[in-house]
Amino acid sequence: MSEFSLINQFCKDIGVKHNNTIIGVGDDAAVVDVPDNMQLATSVDTMVEGVHFFPNANPADLAHKLLAVNLSDMAAMGAQPKWATLALTLPEADLQWLGSFSKSLDSVAKRFGIQLVGGDTTHGPLTLSLNIMGLVPKNKAISRSGAQAGDAVYLSSCVGDAALALKFLQGEVELSDSQAAMVLPALHRPEPQVELGLGLLQLANACLDISDGLVADLAHIAKQSSVTIDVNVDSVPVSKVYQQYLASGGSLDLALCGGDDYQLAFTVSKELRQSVAKLASRLQLELVEIGQVVTQTGQLVALSQGDKTYQLASDSGYQHFG
Ligand code: ADP
Ligand code: MG
Repeated sequence: MSEFSLINQFCKDIGVKHNNTIIGVGDDAAVVDVPDNMQLATSVDTMVEGVHFFPNANPADLAHKLLAVNLSDMAAMGAQPKWATLALTLPEADLQWLGSFSKSLDSVAKRFGIQLVGGDTTHGPLTLSLNIMGLVPKNKAISRSGAQAGDAVYLSSCVGDAALALKFLQGEVELSDSQAAMVLPALHRPEPQVELGLGLLQLANACLDISDGLVADLAHIAKQSSVTIDVNVDSVPVSKVYQQYLASGGSLDLALCGGDDYQLAFTVSKELRQSVAKLASRLQLELVEIGQVVTQTGQLVALSQGDKTYQLASDSGYQHFG
């Protein structure tokens, strides 16, 4: 199959069509209109076989995750995702693989209002790279650097399931079939919090998505905002399966330091707690307060449990820095 027919069959007409897409797939570059009062937010994430996913991973899962992790970056900025370009590096033209990848990409793209406007297709070890573009009101993007001492720190949902699922696949944690079925989607098909990101535009002082682990990611906010973040570990929400893992002797460290959760962590002035509660009920989300921003103490993130300091195990994967 030629590169052109492959692109035509699997990469054209993916997702929705936007009025402000002037030129899409088929030219040397895509051209899009950015409204006067908006700015372009753009980000790219790459997934490499053997590094970010297991060989023989399900192509529908891969397409979902590739788009979801990029959508999550838009969510973290408060941007409305609009366009994507896709760089596909394929070891071979496997039509069944491509069909399933393309169908899944199309369905997630449609669900989130994304149009695929271009890309690149090359031969080599399986590597998937997606560049996402979105619109955000002029100078209103939610950065990592706006957290203020006195803010409350919130988390959009449970953390730890993706890390638990990975440990299960690596044979390091035992789960029953039904437990595995409940945590594996967190790893393979994360649900980006795009609506929440948009709702936080007028509300949050700082925001990011949890991709490297809650503590490591909160440390990014702390460092870039020159503050310290206090977290009460008992208030960090975990799933039923994770609670069962805890009850059987598992540690909370996985939820605090494991990656791939794609929830949003954000800080909001305490006066706006009511507005956060309203947003939560409008979106039917549980937005959980897990701590607060305080004046810089020398530590980026301080963990406590009750009135004691919570100590991460040395092999928790969290690297102290700064
Ligand atoms: P060029 O050689 O000018 O860079 P290509 O031959 O690589 O163009 O691509 C032809 C057209 O197909 C371009 O519009 C490009 O954006 C699009 N395209 C190529 N690969 C993909 C892909 N994997 N997904 C979406 N569009 C693609
Ligand atoms: Mg060209």
